[in-house]
Amino acid sequence: MDPFRSLLLLSSLFSVAAPHSILQISPGSRRHGDRSAWKGDELYCESWRFSVETNDAGVWKQVPEICVGFVREYMTGERYASDCAMVSNNSMSFAGGVEIAGDGKDAWIFDIDETLLSNLPYYAAHGFGSEVFDENAYNEWANLADAPAIPASLILYNGLKGLGFKLILLTGRTEVQRNATAKNLLLAGYSNWERLILRGIDDVGKPALVYKSHKRAELEGEGYRIHGNSGDQWSDLLGMPVATRSFKLPNPMYYIE
Ligand SMILES: [Mg+2]
Repeated sequence: MDPFRSLLLLSSLFSVAAPHSILQISPGSRRHGDRSAWKGDELYCESWRFSVETNDAGVWKQVPEICVGFVREYMTGERYASDCAMVSNNSMSFAGGVEIAGDGKDAWIFDIDETLLSNLPYYAAHGFGSEVFDENAYNEWANLADAPAIPASLILYNGLKGLGFKLILLTGRTEVQRNATAKNLLLAGYSNWERLILRGIDDVGKPALVYKSHKRAELEGEGYRIHGNSGDQWSDLLGMPVATRSFKLPNPMYYIE
């Protein structure tokens, strides 16, 4: 069937079925922020998670109290791992179609925390995002170099390496954390990165989006072609220059501008 006819058929199906069976929430019954319009907390929290992952929610500080249990279940159950695996697969399928020039300038950028390394042990001890982010407590934990790899990201990392990409790690961590960060990455199974870029003195205090896009511009200035960029925060991915493709990992626990 040609595409136009398929579309017509679909739209006629929707016009018959939608009012009662597909669109179960009538538009008139919804008010912004009115949870009663959703069927219980789980559905609300699923929609909340969608809104933060897509950045529709914009700046937010804490997981809503009613969604803390939902986030805990999401992060510790099979869904987070499954979502990460989907991102990894999507990334790898794009990467497989990239032509590697062989001049050592085909790059892929990775954020580190919640992208290569999982901070779940820290967040499990700090309420799964229900507490306002405490940078000092978090840094103390990060300096222990004890964060495990996100398994799907380790597979992607090694897959990209095998394809010939230069892997550049670009993190909001500061230079004083270089040794602990490199140690942690190696312990978690990551190796042979092209470069590990941390915030220098001049970068401290810059919004993540400004700092990271500035570093990408520097890399392009050195001749790197940034094919892919993987990060759990929109500030890892937005800002010019952007990679050819950006891949957002899930993170419903905290937000960094
Ligand atoms: Mg991160």
